Amino acid sequence: MNKHKMIPEKGVPSNSRVLMLFGQLEKLNRESMLVDPEIARQITAKILHLIQTQEKTRKEIVSKGSSGMEVILATLEVFVCVSLSVPGGGRRIGVFVSKGGTGILLQLVISASKESPPSEEVMLQLHSVLAKVGQKDRKFGVKARLNGALNVTVNLLKQNLQNYKLLLPCLLVLQVYSSNTVNAVSLGKNGVVELMFKIIGPYSKKNTSLLKVSLDTLGALLKSKTNAQRAVVHVPVLLYIYQDWHRNDTRHRHILIRKGILSCLKNITNIKLGRKAFIDADGMRILYNTSTECLSVRTLDPLINTSSLIMRKCFPKNRLPLPTIKSVFHHQLLHVPAGGPVAQLYNQPLGMDDVVDESDNNEEAEAENDMENEVEEKDHHAGNDDIETDINKLRPKETHSRPFEELKIYERFFMELSEDFQVMQYTFKGVTATPAAPKSHRPIIVPTAQALPPKTPTAAPLQGDRTHPGAGQPPILAGGVAARLGGEGEEMLEGVLHVPDTALLLPLHDPDLYVEMVKSTSSVPQFSEVAYPDYFGHVAPTSREHILERVYGVQRTKIFQDIERLIHPNDILDKVVYDLDIQSCPVVDGGESLKFNSQFESGNLRKAVQVRKFEYDLVLNSDINSNHYHQWFYFEVSGMRVGAPYRFNIINCEKSNSQFNYGMQVLMYSVQEAISGRPRWVRTGTDICYYKNHFSRSSIAAGGQKGKSYYTMTFSMTFNHKDDVCYFAYHYPYTYSTLKMHLQKLEALRTPQTYLREDVLCETLGGNSCPLLTITAMPESTSNDQICQFRNRPLVFLSSRVHPGETNASWVMKGTLEFLMGSSPLAHSLREAYIFKIVPMLNPDGVVNGNHRCSLSGEDLNRQWQNPSPELHPTIYHTKSLLQYLAAIQRAPLVFCDYHGHSRKKNVFMYGCSLKETVWETNISATSCELHEDLGYRTLPKILSQMAPAFSLASCSFVVERSKEATARVVVWREIGVQRSYTMESTLCGCDQGKYKGLQIGTRELEEMGAQFCVALLRLKRLTSPLKLRNHAHLLDVESDLTETRCKGSSTYLLEDEEASFMEEVDYSAESGDEPDNDPNTADPHDNHLSDSESNNYRDSLT
Ligand SMILES: [Zn+2]
Repeated sequence: MNKHKMIPEKGVPSNSRVLMLFGQLEKLNRESMLVDPEIARQITAKILHLIQTQEKTRKEIVSKGSSGMEVILATLEVFVCVSLSVPGGGRRIGVFVSKGGTGILLQLVISASKESPPSEEVMLQLHSVLAKVGQKDRKFGVKARLNGALNVTVNLLKQNLQNYKLLLPCLLVLQVYSSNTVNAVSLGKNGVVELMFKIIGPYSKKNTSLLKVSLDTLGALLKSKTNAQRAVVHVPVLLYIYQDWHRNDTRHRHILIRKGILSCLKNITNIKLGRKAFIDADGMRILYNTSTECLSVRTLDPLINTSSLIMRKCFPKNRLPLPTIKSVFHHQLLHVPAGGPVAQLYNQPLGMDDVVDESDNNEEAEAENDMENEVEEKDHHAGNDDIETDINKLRPKETHSRPFEELKIYERFFMELSEDFQVMQYTFKGVTATPAAPKSHRPIIVPTAQALPPKTPTAAPLQGDRTHPGAGQPPILAGGVAARLGGEGEEMLEGVLHVPDTALLLPLHDPDLYVEMVKSTSSVPQFSEVAYPDYFGHVAPTSREHILERVYGVQRTKIFQDIERLIHPNDILDKVVYDLDIQSCPVVDGGESLKFNSQFESGNLRKAVQVRKFEYDLVLNSDINSNHYHQWFYFEVSGMRVGAPYRFNIINCEKSNSQFNYGMQVLMYSVQEAISGRPRWVRTGTDICYYKNHFSRSSIAAGGQKGKSYYTMTFSMTFNHKDDVCYFAYHYPYTYSTLKMHLQKLEALRTPQTYLREDVLCETLGGNSCPLLTITAMPESTSNDQICQFRNRPLVFLSSRVHPGETNASWVMKGTLEFLMGSSPLAHSLREAYIFKIVPMLNPDGVVNGNHRCSLSGEDLNRQWQNPSPELHPTIYHTKSLLQYLAAIQRAPLVFCDYHGHSRKKNVFMYGCSLKETVWETNISATSCELHEDLGYRTLPKILSQMAPAFSLASCSFVVERSKEATARVVVWREIGVQRSYTMESTLCGCDQGKYKGLQIGTRELEEMGAQFCVALLRLKRLTSPLKLRNHAHLLDVESDLTETRCKGSSTYLLEDEEASFMEEVDYSAESGDEPDNDPNTADPHDNHLSDSESNNYRDSLT
């Protein structure tokens, strides 16, 4: 630019002063304005003055042939460049923009375009400046469209395709225009997509910056679906040039160009036609091969990641290999409420395919899919949508729905409140104390017994030692282990199986008693086998189990292996090796495949398909009488090869993220290890990750949402022992029969000072008893005072395991029960302080039948507390009745706590209920100042955080959510009036704070948590005793904590709902910030004004 001379050849004789000024300015441009921008400012000010005051001068400058305008623009350009290059200079451009600079420049473009032919130099300079200013003006695209500048640039481009000097600045401006979606659609209609395909091309060392800008512009244009449709025919071209660049750019100098091509493909494949074109053009193989070749170069990761995303999106959706997604097992309910989940599920039209529905294949599904990411984002961040804002729903609810007469029948569960102990002999009459008659005459067998090789010793040692021949059962207990040992065993020389004496290590465990308990457990599938881990028991390992560090690129490797299924279909075996849907499970040939089994209490595995020699796809069963809730698994594997690298994929997971992405491992129990004296569940598995897969979810299974996919949880594993039998589980199993065994053993530990009563609260739908425990201390004497103290102890009400998949809740409960029944002075004080009412397993049927979340009614029992049905939700109905009875006799518990497990967060924490904190969250400030609320609900979590290393106060929340209004915690708080009503959530994964930071949680820590909960209750007792109630330092602490949280304005509720998505996670949907496609075809064509939504929607994509 600087080469122009100021020689006004035409027109009136020039004003020498202006000429001189222009000369100075041009000289300045040529040298550097950086040196002294002030001089340039002075010169331009003088020019401006002359222009404003002298009509003649103005005409002269803008007249054709004068280069005055060019010099001004050049100055502006230098100004902009300088501004962009100095710190804080952006603000200067900001001022330029805010003073209407963009508008003036665009106006100049229009004026310049009216000259014929337009001055190339002026256009060049204008576009150079616009390209830079445009990036700083959020409304640039809108202004340009309204101004009419869009077409000027496009026409200029069309006419100058060979003029590279002009092309680049115009393309740069076009790129900025295209980032506005309305512009993108309009430009597409004007042929700009086609235009870009004329510029981009195969590998060349020339004009690479031009190519880069064209690709970026094209990429931006293709975010519009109508533009993507226009580009579908060019998919083969894009793939061709991508390969060309891949081959020739050997020194990886043009990664951005290669990425640009992929971005175009990524956007085109957002539409179904694009995906089809991609598959037809052999895109899968091309991107797979190029990516594989890139794997060794770390800097090429962006290319691999984008390729992977495109391939996953285009991977044809498969149906799950199932005849129906409804649970394999069906339990006929006596009473099926019309409109309830079970009626809905089983009244579907005959012949309807619930595995995949038509809706998954249309374009609407795609739109939904695009939105999915956003919806999930909202779930992550905007949880406060769920906060209860109806103040009336937060205030205590007076329920007169149940007359006392009706509740009076519950008196029998509270004998301790009327007991006079005139006869100090009292007997334990438990559910399990007198062994119930076996529910069925099925033989009880340990599962692997069936798989015995013929050389099984005739007298299996287990049998003789362990079973009671007179029990009326055919003695089919596990000889299998002995047989398996036969191959290896020094231990077996004498033919004696050394069964670990877990009874010594585990005071509450007894294999024989366990088998007895199993006999009276009713299951829908009528299980007849017993899993070894439940039989032998689990002794927590002493070694630490660290949270697994994620290996870089694991997910990518796994996904590529999945893509290989499509690329190399001949390598895929697709051999069904286990299938509950087929009555006769397939017979497995010797040695080529693993054997699976899940037909025992709490077992869950529906199907296993051998995909490759050492890889298996596993399908989980839905909760009974439902078609989803796949999360819990527990199954047996045998027939493994030592040292072989097995890969297992659970392919029908539903949650959008999982702790398996954050260091959680699966649990494994090896029978060989157990009989070698290490009976234990261990955290195991490598290369674990969790990602969205190519199995489509029917809308029926996705709550009406179309186009959703399942997720894969994958782990790898090598087995150490030949002829082993291994079990895998989501978390440490804890069966209903285990609970019954523990209760019996606890009863046996009872000292005369302990009052323990076990009642049957009710029978479940599946015919199992729901135990209710009462634990307190016996009165010291039968004196009136002592009896009075005994009867008036405050009550603590605990429950657990309403969600069967949250087995950790049972381990915490075990810790609580063991502590409570213990002989320590603390335990004794605690028993003297309170009467404990405990329902240790609110959902026995769900636990027995391997459900994850529901009971046999196909419903989540922790959403039924508002209006439980005695027929459908008996355990909830009667537990609530107990609480209602207590409220009616003015003995509502001091503390209510329901133990749960949490699958998405680390540590142990509590949810409580606070009216005030909920109101704060909702910002209804008007009423909050009038609310008076005792802060007592914070005391227990505060105490726990001081003493229990796994417990994290920061993760606690006391906000009442709408979605939780029918949970135990909220209903007991609101309807029963228990201020300290909690859910205690224990992580399934591990801790990220405190003493256990970096470790996965084990049964020892969970049991410890249960015991510490008891100790915390003792401290609470001291704090709440009338003498100490006032001015207690700890309570003041609580108050100040509360104020701190409040001041920071950072309630944990909003901050710590869940871990962020794993950075490596790839999603199918389009860019998460994608804007809706404002196609003018559908919008009002006359609407030329800048609408609010448009200006709000503007996205500054270039900063
Ligand atoms: Zn739960």
